[in-house]
Amino acid sequence: MNPTERLAQLKEQGLYRRRRVIEGAQGIEVWVDGERLINFSSNDYLGLANHPAVVSALKNGAERYGVGSGSAHLICGHSSAHHALEEELADFTGRRRALLFSTGYMANIGVISALVGRSDKVLEDRLNHASLLDGGLLSRAQFQRYRHADSADLEDKLSGSSRRQLIVTDGVFSMDGDLAPLPAMAKLAEEHQATLMVDDAHGIGVLGDHGAGVLQHFGLSQQQVPVLMGTLGKGLGTFGAFVAGSEDLIELLIQQARSYVFTTAMPAAVAEATRASLKIVRTEPWRREKLQMLSQRFREGASQLGWRLLDSASAIQPILIGDSRQTIAASEALLRQGYWVGAIRPPTVPQGQARLRVTFSANHQQQHVDGLLTALAAIKL
Ligand SMILES: *Cc1c(COP(=O)(O)O)cnc(C)c1O
Repeated sequence: MNPTERLAQLKEQGLYRRRRVIEGAQGIEVWVDGERLINFSSNDYLGLANHPAVVSALKNGAERYGVGSGSAHLICGHSSAHHALEEELADFTGRRRALLFSTGYMANIGVISALVGRSDKVLEDRLNHASLLDGGLLSRAQFQRYRHADSADLEDKLSGSSRRQLIVTDGVFSMDGDLAPLPAMAKLAEEHQATLMVDDAHGIGVLGDHGAGVLQHFGLSQQQVPVLMGTLGKGLGTFGAFVAGSEDLIELLIQQARSYVFTTAMPAAVAEATRASLKIVRTEPWRREKLQMLSQRFREGASQLGWRLLDSASAIQPILIGDSRQTIAASEALLRQGYWVGAIRPPTVPQGQARLRVTFSANHQQQHVDGLLTALAAIKL
């Protein structure tokens, strides 16, 4: 179809998306078109994207390593900063080794395609992140989705296949905020000799006693979950991603993950900034505790107001609305009151399940949450 017609159709369906230009740094307060907004739409859960220690590590990194990394890791782009961050991430997640990727999207497509091919099978949660679904399709393995967070359905689909099977799931679901039933899934994987891969984009830094994510939260070992993927652009506040696991897994990815091999390494200064942010994650548990407190306060307030919440214990607290146009109307009403909350519509979520996605940051104060609740109380759909 031609682009003009397609765009008109998207607008009519309430699916047209628009970028807002923010001035200055990411944070609780952002400036858009000269107006101050309180930001409840970022994935900077721990408030590290503009932390002075992280900013200064980036500057020092640039002084030492310059800006460009010059090439892919396998050519001449793998610096001592990248290498040190990989070792620290392995230690942090309790895995043998870790490998940096330039983005989470690239990590997911690279890992799945490296691990399975035509004669294998990939099983994915219906609500997995787009990059995991794309990775599964790109791998050319037989591709099956199971019902969201439903281990009984997963078990059905695992049974009776003679193929090598890879189970792939979000740890914390990005648009719902709930957790995958990982202990049950790890057990199923073992029983069926399948491999389990967890994408912990929203758990790293946020969940677990030391912030090591959803696998630490559930106490799952490298043997139980051989493939862990995490991103650095969310809880850690910087940019990039990593995969952690056994020596052989990482070595195989270095050889065969196409989105690792055929791309320029992230700037070493970004790796230095991430090392600084990882230190903060490890030494400041108050950030995780604060997030819990803020989410809880919001849940109580919003349900009293009659909004429909999902069963989420994470920093992602969606308000389910259903209709895409109503969801936009609600988010615009919040914007007029100075609150920025993402309106999430299909294809990011299933048809009929559009929602406001409220996310919290350790830098929010209780009064920000109370202000958002007051703004929500003023909305009539
Ligand atoms: C954001 C996200 C990704 C992609 O990570 P990027 O580094 O932003 O490319 C992958 N998986 C999940 C679950 C995500 O939320």
